Amino acid sequence: MTSKTENLDLSKRQTPTGNILTCKGWVQEAALRMLLNNLDPDVAEKPEELIVYGGRGKAARNKEALLLIVKALRNLENDETLLIQSGKPVGIMPTHQDAPRVLISNSQLVPKWATQQHFDDLEDKGLMMYGQMTAGSWIYIGSQGIVQGTYETYAALARKHFDGSLKGKLNVTAGLGGMGGAQPLAITMNEGVCLAAEVEEWRIKKRLETRYIDEIAYDIDQAIDKAVQYAAENKALSIGIVCNAVTLLNRLIERGITPDTLTDQTSAHDPLIGYFPEGLSVAEAAELRINDAKKYRELSYATMAKHVVQMLELQKRGAITFDYGNNLRGRALEAGITNAFDFPGFVPAYIRPLFCEGKGPFRWAALSGDPEDIYTTDQVIMDLFPENSSLHRWIKMARERIAFQGLPARICWLGQGERELAGLAFNKLVAEGRVTAPIVIGRDHLDTGSVASPNRETEAMLDGSDAVADWPVLNALVNTAGGASWVSLHHGGGVGIGYSIHAGMVIVADGTDEAAVRIKRVLRNDPAMGVIRHADAGYDIANDTLRKHRLGLDQLDN
Ligand code: NAD
Repeated sequence: MTSKTENLDLSKRQTPTGNILTCKGWVQEAALRMLLNNLDPDVAEKPEELIVYGGRGKAARNKEALLLIVKALRNLENDETLLIQSGKPVGIMPTHQDAPRVLISNSQLVPKWATQQHFDDLEDKGLMMYGQMTAGSWIYIGSQGIVQGTYETYAALARKHFDGSLKGKLNVTAGLGGMGGAQPLAITMNEGVCLAAEVEEWRIKKRLETRYIDEIAYDIDQAIDKAVQYAAENKALSIGIVCNAVTLLNRLIERGITPDTLTDQTSAHDPLIGYFPEGLSVAEAAELRINDAKKYRELSYATMAKHVVQMLELQKRGAITFDYGNNLRGRALEAGITNAFDFPGFVPAYIRPLFCEGKGPFRWAALSGDPEDIYTTDQVIMDLFPENSSLHRWIKMARERIAFQGLPARICWLGQGERELAGLAFNKLVAEGRVTAPIVIGRDHLDTGSVASPNRETEAMLDGSDAVADWPVLNALVNTAGGASWVSLHHGGGVGIGYSIHAGMVIVADGTDEAAVRIKRVLRNDPAMGVIRHADAGYDIANDTLRKHRLGLDQLDN
């Protein structure tokens, strides 16, 4: 447990656990624990730089700001709200018990100035921080957070293109970072073979340690041969090769080997910090980034252009090719590849029908730190939804194959109506002492009603409203009004500065009746924003969900 905040040593775990409060209430305590959990060395990609995942997605602006946030949370009363401006605490306001304890705004820029260059200049001056999605909103739970989304995506792909399984299929991708590291596991859980390129050796080693990947390789041709053989033998195994994505794709093209599926999860949203140009070692890249950022960006863009051209070539040869939410196509288009968008994004291709039912990445963590508490919640979820066989399959596989990172946590995709049921059941568990401390409930910003991102979540909307950002703003506002525990509004997550606006929310189940009222409101309203947004855009499934759950304005007729 952290006794002196000024001594925070981020090379070691600092998250308090157990059921003794170190703050003045469980909501503040939850915010403190989740902030420090984001920076747990087992959770964060680079805790010493406060980087949690996704290129330079940070939990706090700098060490000084982090210490001040910790101090503020420790002293925050139950009728006060802490304000965070791009990772720095800037005020404590009198509010009321039902109000959020923390309100966060990260990386917001007036649209005309919302360029990467302008953001970088401000960041250099210490005036801003990139919050990514769950990094700056303190609800990142390690790679598991993305495993189920990736699992759902590949499962949907398998249903659409194969017989519901990736058995015997070769799936090629790149980038094994905080989010991308989930790809090998999600693919093997769908029974396929994964072959992934990753420039940084330590990333693959980290995935080996957490059992997200099966093998590391250094020789590209040998790795390709092995992967092809595994697919022929219907073996569900994954290989990470230490190489640049374009080097792997180049060899596949030269050798005439066409993968069954092809995507990418390098941090292409950030050409300077996230993406590695071809031909540079990790050390050379680090040096060039500091000495000549302009040159680095140019090389990055050139490699991304080549990367997309290779993907288009493999698509032509038969690979089912999709963009996995990193804006690689957008970067290639900026670099002059006019047909970069000839392969689709994963949301319109596979995920949107789920969004129309209010379904998205619901997640929770046990503040006790005790894995048994999560196993208890797993059982509750299975009992609540006995007819949902794929949910049962997921929970069972997650228990067997996913190593917890930091606070034990779970994720599963739940829809309209289901999330409130789960939240209320968790609150009851806490009230009855069946878990040893409160449960914190949240979600990714990549959700049904919390994001406007024309190259990703809102790509190719039926009514052309891809860039309309009123929805995530309304989402943050309604969650604040409903009494979420903390609410965040971010810019640039997933796809980079200028490309997205999105909101996050977290709600704490501390077992009290007051929490139950807040949970019921927030977990109804939050996905409802997504159903309303998609119904407004004209999706039939969303209109059916809207009517079924009485979310629309037809209530005015009664
Ligand atoms: P990360 O920064 O933690 O990891 C990116 C990895 O890509 C790093 O390990 C890096 O070494 C590797 N890399 C960079 N350039 C490479 C290249 N040319 N060849 C091979 N490897 C290369 O980022 P992350 O959290 O894993 O996220 C990856 C991307 O996916 C980001 O753009 C992020 O915004 C996006 N994302 C997608 C989803 C989704 O659901 N699809 C969700 C969150 C984030």
